[in-house]
Amino acid sequence: MIKINKDSPEVAKAEKAHWEWVRSNFKIKEPKPPQNASREVKGAFTKAVNRKKRLYELLGFITEKQKKDQNYFAEDKDQEFEELICTQPSQLKRVRDSLKFKNLVVEKSSQLKEYLKKKKDLKNDQDNEALKNEVEALEAVVKNDLDEYNKKKKLSDEIQQLLGYKKLYDKESSWNAYSLCDSLKLTVCPYCNRQYVFTAKNEEGEWKCRPQLDHFYVKSKYPFLSCSFYNLIPSCPFCNEGKNDCDKDTIYPYLEEFGNNAVFRMDGDEIKIVKTAQKSFIPKASYKISIEKKFSESEIAIDRVQGHKIEKFKKLVKNSNDVFHLEILYNGHQLELKNLLVKYAAILGVNLEKYAEIYYEEKNVSEEKKESLKKILLGLPLFFDDGDDYPLRKFKTDIINQLDEV
Ligand SMILES: [Zn+2]
Repeated sequence: MIKINKDSPEVAKAEKAHWEWVRSNFKIKEPKPPQNASREVKGAFTKAVNRKKRLYELLGFITEKQKKDQNYFAEDKDQEFEELICTQPSQLKRVRDSLKFKNLVVEKSSQLKEYLKKKKDLKNDQDNEALKNEVEALEAVVKNDLDEYNKKKKLSDEIQQLLGYKKLYDKESSWNAYSLCDSLKLTVCPYCNRQYVFTAKNEEGEWKCRPQLDHFYVKSKYPFLSCSFYNLIPSCPFCNEGKNDCDKDTIYPYLEEFGNNAVFRMDGDEIKIVKTAQKSFIPKASYKISIEKKFSESEIAIDRVQGHKIEKFKKLVKNSNDVFHLEILYNGHQLELKNLLVKYAAILGVNLEKYAEIYYEEKNVSEEKKESLKKILLGLPLFFDDGDDYPLRKFKTDIINQLDEV
């Protein structure tokens, strides 16, 4: 889990462009067309205003009476709407849990979940009489829950539709998922740090590839956040689809990261072998890769890390690992790990100091130069600017640190 730099100019620019697009969809801050404007222009304006009124009504910004008032334009609510779309990362959770939107949260009771799952199973197994009876029995129990859920689901779909969630995925739209991801200039998935997530155009300038957009707070449960800029996280399909509708609290990339507090580790007793076998080092068939929680003495003393109590942070790390299957996935990167170990053993085998003297043709090579040569020998990216990233960077860095530490 790696952080997105929310203070970068790219993020600020993308946030502005995103709001500009939402604003224009509802003609917010646009004057009413003059009397002599064409029917199309007037019609489009009226439609946009009516859409906005309906949305504001559903979001609880205005009452139905205000909506019907021909003179009521809800201009004073536009600011509130802008704040919802551009809710800052530090406020996103507060908005998610605010009383104002409490009625819009779509939740399934555990019985309802069970019923919906069994109903789905029955579709694929229609002759299963026992299952059929179970579904029928459950149906009577969950009837009220189901009615309530369906009512809320309908409302949720309408809110998402009005907010423009589907339009955001339209390539023809002036601002869309492609331009949003492109503007952020992220290179790798912030959740797993394993896959590239850049966008690409063909020679004609048409968008061809983009990452998926994950709703950090899932849109099925929190429809009012479905178009909020800081709730949209470009991510790889493994992470977005693996997470699905799970709404466990995880590390939020606009505010938090694993950093030095949750690090990748390989089985510790193998380290000595890497460092002593040197040239004759042959990697094992597979190593055990785990995520270890680590806190400095001062962090422990004040019991605070990344804005949380340590226990709370540990829980976020655990949830993130569960939701994105990180340890399981990283244990699949044996090839990268073994390659790294062989190179590391080879460097130590001849001694980095000696390599550096030959390479730079000088004695007493500076630490900076040695560090740079170490990167070359370990096969790590060299032209690495601030803000750039590459797949498996954190994994490789953590393992190298583990090797260096002993
Ligand atoms: Zn990912």
